Amino acid sequence: MHKLAQLDQQFVWHPFTQMRDWLRREPIVIASGKGAVLRDVKGREFLDANSSIWTNLHGHQHPKINAAITRQLKKISHSSALGFANEPASLLAERLVKIAANGSRVADSNGHRTPKFNPKSKITNPKLEKVFFSDDGSTALEVALKLAYEFTRRTRGAKTKPRFLSLDGAYHGDTLGAVSLGHIILFHKAYGGMLFATDKIMSPYCYRCPFNRAKPERNDARKYRKCHWECVGLVEKKFAAQKKKNNDYAAFVFEPLMQGAAGMIPQPSGWLTQVTEIARANGALLIADEVMTGFGRSGVTCHVDDKAIASVSKNPASAKLFATQRVGITPDFLCVAKGLTGGYLPMAATLTTQKVFNAFLGEYEEFKTFFHGHSFTGNQLGSAASLASLDLLATKASVLQRARLQKQLHNELQSLWALPHVGDIRQVGLVAGIELVKNWRTREPFALRERAGIRVCEAMARQGVLTRPVGNVIVLMPPYCTTPVQLQKMVSALSEAVESILPRK
Ligand SMILES: *Cc1c(COP(=O)(O)O)cnc(C)c1O
Repeated sequence: MHKLAQLDQQFVWHPFTQMRDWLRREPIVIASGKGAVLRDVKGREFLDANSSIWTNLHGHQHPKINAAITRQLKKISHSSALGFANEPASLLAERLVKIAANGSRVADSNGHRTPKFNPKSKITNPKLEKVFFSDDGSTALEVALKLAYEFTRRTRGAKTKPRFLSLDGAYHGDTLGAVSLGHIILFHKAYGGMLFATDKIMSPYCYRCPFNRAKPERNDARKYRKCHWECVGLVEKKFAAQKKKNNDYAAFVFEPLMQGAAGMIPQPSGWLTQVTEIARANGALLIADEVMTGFGRSGVTCHVDDKAIASVSKNPASAKLFATQRVGITPDFLCVAKGLTGGYLPMAATLTTQKVFNAFLGEYEEFKTFFHGHSFTGNQLGSAASLASLDLLATKASVLQRARLQKQLHNELQSLWALPHVGDIRQVGLVAGIELVKNWRTREPFALRERAGIRVCEAMARQGVLTRPVGNVIVLMPPYCTTPVQLQKMVSALSEAVESILPRK
């Protein structure tokens, strides 16, 4: 065994990992990376098919991001945001506010915008104008949660007990506030005693929806579903019931367009606009968790064909970077992390409105201050990397590359329908989840203890393709620099792994 692998096994405790299994075999020790390729200490090469757990955007060792970090390194790596401003964090905050506004309508005199999806709607979009920096997705959510909580108490009265609503299967991180918002029993049950109560609504998981009367087809379940939007009806009921208790929800928290750790669960077209409109009409703030979907992950346009590619190449600035923008919604809190720095450094941000900001203004002795912060808030290296990543995202080359990759991903995935153990293939932009089942005709799932997803990913690793499953869902989330040949290899490795691990009967 390699010396470093030995040290790892002796000293390191890995996240979300059954360490007994981990200790049974020699781990892959990553030594370097370039583009979509990771290289280990033994010189073996692997494709980074989940962008290093959904973080990487432009590939490893991108010269522009490397240069930005190096330039900043020569000035200073970190100084505190407690008491001091700094150059890259100031520039980054300005830039984030600017890109968050892309595609929204011009604000009226109250700073409100009408959502695009429904011009008749009386509900208006706010404008995101303030940025609170932190370190991870979890902390970005924690900040939104605390701000929404306190904002609600300050506007509705100090006796209010703000209550939050989120989606079934939701994952918003592992700190306790974020876990309270989450609804994954397997991860969260053990900590129940430490959490505060939140409510959940059903997630629009068309493939396994009890209201979907359609028989399984060899197609994305969103496309062939037969229902009457019962899920949206339930959301309406939930809000009405809460109103009866005289305690409207303080906020609705959601991952837009696709829930990640819930199992790559995409939302059928129209769901998000209806549900957020209901939430807004009931006075709830919107907290959008774009930790996974942000920075172009949700795709350049809904469906990419040659026409869409031609159109984005003419106007690259029209490509939206956030899933909420894709449907014309501006939330009251926008949480970003993973891809913010291009996936190079841990950094996160929570964007919010002037209105929320103002609720925390007062004389010092009123103690309206937002008493929250982290040692590395507004870190310079992270900010410099983020600015370089955002520069790249705005280039025509990147927009075109993303459009082509999105289209190719769609095309390559179609071959997987030939596998009887593939039940559903779900793609949103540059994210895909492939759900493995015992029998596609019945949708019968593999029991978790069969470790079907894990075994398939292990077989993919043997073929030089690295990803991690969510239960029985295999995730493909290629870095934006992935070449056509590399993408082909990711999908064929998946196909071969399924064939060898889950043989046809
Ligand atoms: C990963 C993730 C988080 C948590 O982010 P960390 O950086 O791991 O704390 C929160 N929300 C979503 C949607 C995520 O994908």
